[in-house]
Amino acid sequence: MQDLKWSELPFGYVRTPYNVRCKYKNGKWGEIEVSDSEYVNIHIAATCLHYGQEAFEGLKTYRGKDGKVRIFRWDENAKRLQSSSEGILMAKVDDKLFFEMTKKVVDLNKDFIPPYGTGASLYIRPLLIGTGAEVGVKPADEYEFIIFTTPVGPYFKEGFKPVNIAIIKDSDRAAPLGTGLIKIGGNYAASLRGVKRAHDAGCGSPMYLDCVNRKFIDEIGAANFFGIKNNTYITPKSSSILPSITNKSIEELAQLLGYKTERRPIELTELETFEEVGACGTAAVISPIGKIIDLETNKIYDFGDKPGPVSTKLYETLVGIQYGEVEDTFNWCTILDI
Ligand SMILES: *Cc1c(COP(=O)(O)O)cnc(C)c1O
Repeated sequence: MQDLKWSELPFGYVRTPYNVRCKYKNGKWGEIEVSDSEYVNIHIAATCLHYGQEAFEGLKTYRGKDGKVRIFRWDENAKRLQSSSEGILMAKVDDKLFFEMTKKVVDLNKDFIPPYGTGASLYIRPLLIGTGAEVGVKPADEYEFIIFTTPVGPYFKEGFKPVNIAIIKDSDRAAPLGTGLIKIGGNYAASLRGVKRAHDAGCGSPMYLDCVNRKFIDEIGAANFFGIKNNTYITPKSSSILPSITNKSIEELAQLLGYKTERRPIELTELETFEEVGACGTAAVISPIGKIIDLETNKIYDFGDKPGPVSTKLYETLVGIQYGEVEDTFNWCTILDI
């Protein structure tokens, strides 16, 4: 085990010794390679550099109380990467290759899986890039799939405490962030301005409204939004948000715990009626929201400075499953024999 200050880790990049790579050439994937370099050497005309032919994923491994290493719903990440590949015409990584490489990279870096009880985990970042040279706008004929790891702490440094969110002005939003089913870097480049505006306003993340009418709630930065009222978990239905695996899992847990769930358009005007609101995602886990500040109108929606009871219950159940403390009735975790 490495000697790091595990409990103080931010959500950032920390070098781990190895990453794994696989190249797609002549219509097929090659052998899995292990690398100790943090760099890639690619063609200056690679499509990922010019046309953003690139997709990524994010998932986590957890060291449980029982010492076992669990990975959460990797098959869902594999599936979403495949739909991202369909979205921007890239070679697909099948489930088998995805899992083999994930397991290998975790095994190689197992000294960096944070100890139980520190609130930290080992983040896994799969990256698929078009490496073939093209100048015309067309898909590459060569790809590289890379997975690296980095130990991370909570995304919002407050941990499980309410964060503040800014509804940014339309002019600060370069593009919708989650475009349908695809998790691509280009959407994130377009979000950087909005993220900066939110930070400048003293908030942890921006809230995006639908970009046609600015009437409905879409997402919270790189996390989905949820609201709770009348024992019901409500999350937006929209074609411009990324389908979060965490959100889908929380919905199922909410049902298991006896809450109702709804997935439907949520108007901004409904915000005031929620008892609790939050953001959810692999990085954000469940982050309760304290205040939402509308930078256009200066209106502030205040949900208090303590996590609500339903968010807390959902958080404890989700995290409990991930660390092996709560029974994994849905079979979401794969225990890695490493
Ligand atoms: C990755 C991502 C999320 C969260 O999805 P999870 O599968 O829960 O990690 C939410 N919104 C956007 C835009 C994302 O890229």
